[in-house]
Amino acid sequence: MNTEKILKAGKIASQVRKYAKSIIIKDSPLIEIAEKIEDKIKELGGKPAFPTNLSIDDIAAHYTPSYDDKTTASGLLKVDFGVHVDGWIADTAFSLDLEDNEENKKLIIASEKALENAIKNSRENKELNEIGKIISETIEKDGFSPIINLSGHEMKQYDLHAGITVPNMNDKKFILMQKGLYAIEPFATSGNGKVYDGKPSGIFLLTNSKNIRNPLAREVLNFIEKEYQTLPFCSRWLVKKFGTKALFALKQLEENKNLHHFPQLVETSHSKVSQAEHTILVDKEIIITTKEK
Ligand code: MN
Ligand code: MN
Repeated sequence: MNTEKILKAGKIASQVRKYAKSIIIKDSPLIEIAEKIEDKIKELGGKPAFPTNLSIDDIAAHYTPSYDDKTTASGLLKVDFGVHVDGWIADTAFSLDLEDNEENKKLIIASEKALENAIKNSRENKELNEIGKIISETIEKDGFSPIINLSGHEMKQYDLHAGITVPNMNDKKFILMQKGLYAIEPFATSGNGKVYDGKPSGIFLLTNSKNIRNPLAREVLNFIEKEYQTLPFCSRWLVKKFGTKALFALKQLEENKNLHHFPQLVETSHSKVSQAEHTILVDKEIIITTKEK
């Protein structure tokens, strides 16, 4: 692990959290918010580790605006973004109530408290199911449910979801937290506490580089390999580079099975969802790399 780069990515993410909170207001176009966040990451010397997720209300995760998206900020908005420095990732999220709604505010507090309690109890050799139990109990105490089929995750260089999972409930698995880099991300909902796969998100991951005959698709594939490597990217970024013909190339690459296309993740009872997330470095002590200073 490269601690220096991990801490640098985290510091940038913590600054971008503050910046994002200062610019997001109700009715701002999501595409403007996403681009401002991603531009800020670059300005501070990092790169986006994945497309900025701006998921509203019952969409728990994986909504990123498309290049022609007209959606504006409203309701209970989750802002989830990542920074990487040479592949070392900081993954962080917060939620905003943009309609002055009591339930939204309570949901936000519930996921934040669950995150805080989970981090307080994190250390090397701690059973991960115990951290999951702390998350679910904190959220349930506030009268809500955790989303049980979403979880935190270990991160390695250029690998956003590596190896170990940090559950949002007691998953009855007896796996110990090891030294390493983890994202912890409780989701709280007033609904059933599960998500299903919704519409395609426009967020992709390169799964293999097997050759494709179409020259444009090949050019886009080469760009993805070089620019994003094994980190997620989105159609909006490629339209910016290649124009709308990138959408045709993406379709070809999907058909050729070069890509995984992530679905939007939607709460099954269409109830509202809040999220809080930080990245922690587990070593002799715990460092919250993305904490706002
Ligand atoms: Mn995240
Ligand atoms: Mn994450």
